[in-house]
Amino acid sequence: MRRGRLNQEYLEVAMNIETTSGEGAALTERPSSPVILVADDEPVNLSLIKRRLEWEAYAVLTAHDGDEAVEKAQKFLPDLIILDVMMPIMDGLQACRKLKDIPATREIPIIFLSALDDIETKVSGLMLGANDYISKPFRVEELIARVRVAIRLKREREELRRSAEEAQLRAEAAREMSMSDSLTGLRNRYGLQRALQREYAETRRYHRPLSCLMIDIDYFKEINDTCGHAAGDTALMQTARILVDAVRGSDVVCRYGGDEFLVLTPETNLEGVAALGEKIRLTAASRLFGDGERVFELTLSIGAAELLPDESSHEMLARADTALYNAKQAGRNRIASAE
Ligand code: GH3
Ligand code: MG
Repeated sequence: MRRGRLNQEYLEVAMNIETTSGEGAALTERPSSPVILVADDEPVNLSLIKRRLEWEAYAVLTAHDGDEAVEKAQKFLPDLIILDVMMPIMDGLQACRKLKDIPATREIPIIFLSALDDIETKVSGLMLGANDYISKPFRVEELIARVRVAIRLKREREELRRSAEEAQLRAEAAREMSMSDSLTGLRNRYGLQRALQREYAETRRYHRPLSCLMIDIDYFKEINDTCGHAAGDTALMQTARILVDAVRGSDVVCRYGGDEFLVLTPETNLEGVAALGEKIRLTAASRLFGDGERVFELTLSIGAAELLPDESSHEMLARADTALYNAKQAGRNRIASAE
């Protein structure tokens, strides 16, 4: 018999379940060859089909009625189920209905075997979700050929599903990457748009305030020029850290552009956001930036704005930008509130 050791172990576990009332045993590893569950109440038929399928290198589990077939299908999740239509306790059609109702077994292909060659039985079986139907008596070559097709289709379907899932994961990762800034890990401008839309909708629906801070590093070009671009990058990351540490979990921090950051603060009015801005300004102004080699000071200019009634979120950002400009004009290292 062309059956590997793994198949043998798997079948032994299955046999063990058969002899120990189906409880307690667990599969450690699945055999490499496809597993087929055959349910037929006629022991002679059952052992004939089993032997022939094993000769084709399939791993075969057996059941003597529909009930046992459903139980084993759930336990072993075979690649294919061959169901005799006429069986005691639970017939093949009932078993098929149950298997299609259980999420774990729903996708397992089913081939019906029956002496009933009437069209109605065939149609009901196929309507219930069976994949194929073989009338008894059948030539074993036909059974094998249909088994091969069913297993090949199942493998192809699984392969398709796997690649669709992988493609979805890749698309999600790409979207995630396109929304974040690679230097600071903060959202970029594109990522902000989604958060802005969401917060704006919530603010309007629940009549809550929404405010923002537009923050720009003072004389950042000079830092790049005197300390180098790498030190500039470090300072951008350190500024991002200050912002993230200062805000609440529900606030949104974004790298808006080169040395410009935006903090969006839901449920906060102008007074509250100005206090947050002042805290951020003081934190930056009272610490050192850079790495071990280059250490320098830097300051921030900040524009604060609160969303006005009938104003769009973009209009609020524009007013925060104007306030930031005013802070720069007034001498930098300060916060200005929008009109
Ligand atoms: P101001 O006080 O008016 O803001 O002066 P500034 O020198 O900071 O002027 P501005 O904000 O216009 O300059 C931003 C500079 O930030 C220009 C650009 O070279 C630098 N920059 C933009 N992106 C990066 C980056 O990713 N890394 C580094 N190191 N520098 C950047
Ligand atoms: Mg600047």
